[in-house]
Amino acid sequence: MHSMSSSTRPRSLSGIQPTAESFHLGNYLGAVRQWVGLQEDHDAFYFIADLHALTVQPDPAQLRARVHRSAAQLLAAGVDPERSALFCQSHVPEHTQLAWVFNCLTGFGEAGRMTQFKDKSAKAGADKASVGLFTYPILQAADILLYNPHHVPVGEDQRQHLELSRNLAQRFNHHYGETFRQPEAYIVKGTAKIADLQDPTAKMSKSASSPNGIVDLLDDPKKAAKKIRSAVTDSGDTIRYDPEGQPGIANLLTLFATVAGTTVDDVVAQFEGQQYGHLKVALADLVADLVSGFGERTRAYLDDPAELDRVLAAGAARAREVAAPVVVDVYDKVGLVRGV
Ligand code: ATP
Ligand code: MG
Repeated sequence: MHSMSSSTRPRSLSGIQPTAESFHLGNYLGAVRQWVGLQEDHDAFYFIADLHALTVQPDPAQLRARVHRSAAQLLAAGVDPERSALFCQSHVPEHTQLAWVFNCLTGFGEAGRMTQFKDKSAKAGADKASVGLFTYPILQAADILLYNPHHVPVGEDQRQHLELSRNLAQRFNHHYGETFRQPEAYIVKGTAKIADLQDPTAKMSKSASSPNGIVDLLDDPKKAAKKIRSAVTDSGDTIRYDPEGQPGIANLLTLFATVAGTTVDDVVAQFEGQQYGHLKVALADLVADLVSGFGERTRAYLDDPAELDRVLAAGAARAREVAAPVVVDVYDKVGLVRGV
């Protein structure tokens, strides 16, 4: 791969969990689109977070299939493996090796304050939530800090985890000497929290949304359009952008502006004086087009699983070049004796 190793460009890094058959509009607009944009002027590292997916005990065959589906979708979204290292988290063992060191630097109470853990464990039931789910933000800190990225493109729900990563970087540096960069969350206002179509106060989520609340990128276009048309909207009938008072309409306006490549103000102006239904029908068409092209591209990549494996292997090799020396350095610094 060309020029990446000697580059002085800033780095970007992010991951996505293979926790569903498809990514959804929130994943795409909130995160993956930014991955694609940043690869233009960053050295980019993007991974499929299969170890994170294990925290909710997926069926093994299903998990395996979803890793390929994830790789195909990331390529379909525009992640370019010539420019970005695209890999599978479990193929780079340095992630778990560094995670242990961070586990030992994280306070129990500190980990307990992570709101995603509270939400997800409350849903699973306290007895069913795994210790892996509890420590997953710490593995995530390792995922990130291994690559010393400048920018981490994520949705709003990851802000707290990013803050933990920054704290762990600082703590490690304080105890053991300057080692890690404190990464910046790259969160794009507007699309950072795409809402569930049926419950516009909640985020659209692979694991928590109801089928009608979520537009999957691999949905049949007609089905996707129908979901948009039946989105829950607010009482009143004025199309204006008011995320507090009218979260349903605000979400549709955000989706429209982002998918059409325009601004919320323009969309509001375009639909001035019209009813909610007009906005929904027009957005339904846009979204149907988006998922139609996306689905076609993804299926083409899925037709060649050997090529997907090749891309992931090349990405992992590139990632390990960066990650391996970091773990050696960290293990030295914390006082582990090198094996012979
Ligand atoms: P899960 O429910 O399994 O946690 P998820 O939908 O939250 O799935 P993740 O794989 O955890 O998806 O997250 C991948 C990326 O997508 C992250 O950067 C996350 O912040 C972002 N993201 C997830 N949901 C949304 C959303 N509704 N709006 C904007 N960004 C989102
Ligand atoms: Mg999530």
